[in-house]
Amino acid sequence: MIRVIHAYRFALAPTPIQDAALRSHCGAQRFAFNWGLDQVRANLAQRDAERSYGVPDQQLTPSVSWSAYHLRKSWNQTKAMVAPWWAENSKEAYASGLSNLAAALGNWRDSRSGTRRGSAIRFPRFRGKRSRLSCRFTTGAFGLVDTDRRHVRLPRIGAVRTHESTRTLARHVDRGTSRIRSATITHQRGRWFVSFSVEVDRGDPAPRRPNAVVGVDLGVKSLAVLSSGEVIANPKHLEVAQRELRRLQRQASRRQGPDRRTRQVPSARWRKAQARIARVHTAVANARRDGLHQLTTRLVRTYGTIVIEDLNVAGMLRNRRLARRIAGVGMGELRRQIDYKTGWAGSRVHVADRWYPSSRTCSGCGVVKAKLRLSERMFHCEHCSLVLDRDLNAARNLAQLVSEVTAGMSSPSCGATGHEPDGNPGQTRIARAAGTATGRPTRSTPRRKATAA
Ligand SMILES: [Zn+2]
Repeated sequence: MIRVIHAYRFALAPTPIQDAALRSHCGAQRFAFNWGLDQVRANLAQRDAERSYGVPDQQLTPSVSWSAYHLRKSWNQTKAMVAPWWAENSKEAYASGLSNLAAALGNWRDSRSGTRRGSAIRFPRFRGKRSRLSCRFTTGAFGLVDTDRRHVRLPRIGAVRTHESTRTLARHVDRGTSRIRSATITHQRGRWFVSFSVEVDRGDPAPRRPNAVVGVDLGVKSLAVLSSGEVIANPKHLEVAQRELRRLQRQASRRQGPDRRTRQVPSARWRKAQARIARVHTAVANARRDGLHQLTTRLVRTYGTIVIEDLNVAGMLRNRRLARRIAGVGMGELRRQIDYKTGWAGSRVHVADRWYPSSRTCSGCGVVKAKLRLSERMFHCEHCSLVLDRDLNAARNLAQLVSEVTAGMSSPSCGATGHEPDGNPGQTRIARAAGTATGRPTRSTPRRKATAA
């Protein structure tokens, strides 16, 4: 049994009165966020001004605490004045806005001081009327409705009907293997959603073949190719949705879009076309994610070790011609799903080194080709005259990595990378080692990573 946090998301079908209440709560959240931000900014400006007059540091106006706790405390002291209508909404709405603000301020501070990695974070800005509607409840009466599996309960708003059955979550609740920690309502593309953050005790069965290794290569034509030779087709709806997407994009291009230079406002028909495009984009993404979920669940339930590539997804997306293909099959999403699902079932994931030439290596004899064009769908080996589907060849190479690593390293850790290219990876070379009992080439010595990650 391991404890994990799952999100359960349901589309809601609120009554008009409930819809108004949901909007009111999201508005209250935004109000509290903006109120807190105003306090913080006024305080910073005041201190800056005092400093510019030469006021010594000890005599400056004390700084306002940026913690959610203190922001909430000062909100409670002033809410009767600044928002006499505050009682219309659950207090959670205001707390949610203030905790979002505290997180945003903290991120900015950490980003500025260099303790937070990633790109620089801007100072929080006021939330406008058109900002995304959302509100989080962490205490109070929220959860499922016991009597049926078609409603969720939210504080102040009451039981709201869901579009789909809440069965999956209800089963966990009935068994007592879950605890709902928070509920977040959001409004997206004209529809309300609730997302429950749930602590779940999972007891997944061990993989059926604990000693088996599988290499997964994401295909261009198909969703994925396994080293076992199995080809996983793309989800059926994907092709249809992509065709529809192309049609809508042509349609939108004939309509009057916005132009910043001439200050042309977009036409209503252009906006409508964009809304339709956004809807199809969501459908495409959903179909893709669903296909990947089915694949990754099956993989972790079957194989003890799964080997995937560590692709530099961000770098690849910059290459526009390749970008569509990579983004089209969700490379990062596969990695993400396998990473967390292997934890449940007790299987392991091995991530090949970023520079490991899985496509250019011959899975039969280990010769690495200098180059292999993306258009070459078949792998032809000049050395051992092996002819194999390109993706299958790559998948087999990945699977072989683990047997190599386990042969060379005493304790391969999860996600360890045992491969670094020798010198120039573009040069054709022959693997030095002889074949093992399985007839696969193996390396006699383990390679350590030459560069620190
Ligand atoms: Zn070969």
